[in-house]
Amino acid sequence: MRCWVIDKKDVNNSNINSKPSDILKLREDIILPEIDENECLVKIKSAGLNFNSVWSSKLYPADPFSLMNGHVRRNKNDAKHVQNYFIPGSDACGEIVKIKNSENFKEGDEVIIHCAVIADEDLSTKDPMLSKSQSIWGYETNFGSFAEYSIVKNSQLISKPKNLNLFAAGSSLLTLGTAYRMIVSENGGQLKKGETCLIWGASGGLGVFAIQLVKYLGGVPICIVSNKEKLQFCKNLGADKIICLSELENKNFLNTENQFNIKLWLEFSRKIKDLTGEDKVDMVFEHIGKETIALSLYLLRRGGRVVTCAATSGFIANIDLRYVWMEMKKLIGSHFCNPREAMESVTLLEKGYIKNSPSLIMDFNEIPKGLNLIDKRQAIGKIAIKF
Ligand code: NAP
Repeated sequence: MRCWVIDKKDVNNSNINSKPSDILKLREDIILPEIDENECLVKIKSAGLNFNSVWSSKLYPADPFSLMNGHVRRNKNDAKHVQNYFIPGSDACGEIVKIKNSENFKEGDEVIIHCAVIADEDLSTKDPMLSKSQSIWGYETNFGSFAEYSIVKNSQLISKPKNLNLFAAGSSLLTLGTAYRMIVSENGGQLKKGETCLIWGASGGLGVFAIQLVKYLGGVPICIVSNKEKLQFCKNLGADKIICLSELENKNFLNTENQFNIKLWLEFSRKIKDLTGEDKVDMVFEHIGKETIALSLYLLRRGGRVVTCAATSGFIANIDLRYVWMEMKKLIGSHFCNPREAMESVTLLEKGYIKNSPSLIMDFNEIPKGLNLIDKRQAIGKIAIKF
């Protein structure tokens, strides 16, 4: 079958400065292994691009072959995932062509695949994301969505709602499910009606859903974007409180010694006060990391919460702990979502409360080009892939 892969022999040929297109190779000779019990083979009809495939192709902060070895150490029955190739991709929609032991699905069904790979025995726990078996499909496990066919666990399947088009269905769930857990779920920040939520990277793949989820709950999104084009994109999603980094007087979050730029912090407080009447917020939606996490904690009101799922600008960061304990703030870690939260996210799409209109639909052959755009901070919203 045709698929985009990272070859094991190229593991030393990539680094944090490489482009995804430097390492991804198109192959036509890959034959997938047989499916095991409680698994299925899905013919992919559309996929979505995500930042985790940028990390995979930079082999940073860990290469996919080490991650797959880690998955197999925790899941002895999944040894087939360790191959000399790795197929990335963690969002897709497709048709089941072969399935074993399923009461809910059959061959021919159209499905959305969510990316939480969880051992069957852990699925009945309260929050299966907390089980040791959990990995992310197409990032820590093989046979991801950048291929004509993919092998997934039956527990990753959700029926594709009839009213969703292929591109919306195939490019939503990784970031929608992540934002849902961070903002809506009791496992994340559980935003309340009327609360303010500061959203970093508001025009990105997470941000596009974060804005809509905050509004859905009756909260107030305060969006942060880096330029006017991204500002307009957020306005089109119904946001009216937006901070544009290019319009601030103070530019850098950190100085050359990695010290906080207090003038920028105060400018942020003033901007937030202009927009909301208060200089602090109830919640921060974080994924930037090193450059912004200390500022995010500073901008919280007493007892507020920062919910974080990533650290795009760096994962070793300085924070000022005084603001955490003196003002009783919470820092909550969050990672994708469990199968129940994924199902609830798709229901919001099905009912039209949340929308996904990918900004760009690219051809299967253009996957590396699309990932280059995400890497360079040039993508807006979601990119869907046509097969
Ligand atoms: P995205 O579509 O690329 O959007 C991220 C946005 O963040 C960019 O558009 C950019 O917007 C902003 N940004 C600010 N500082 C940045 C920096 N130093 N480098 C790059 N972007 C910066 O990505 P995404 O899908 O929203 O994902 C964002 C991060 O979350 C990634 O690291 C991703 O791997 C992670 N993630 C984690 C999970 C999880 O489950 N743990 C799930 C989804 C995503 P401006 O240019 O407007 O500032």
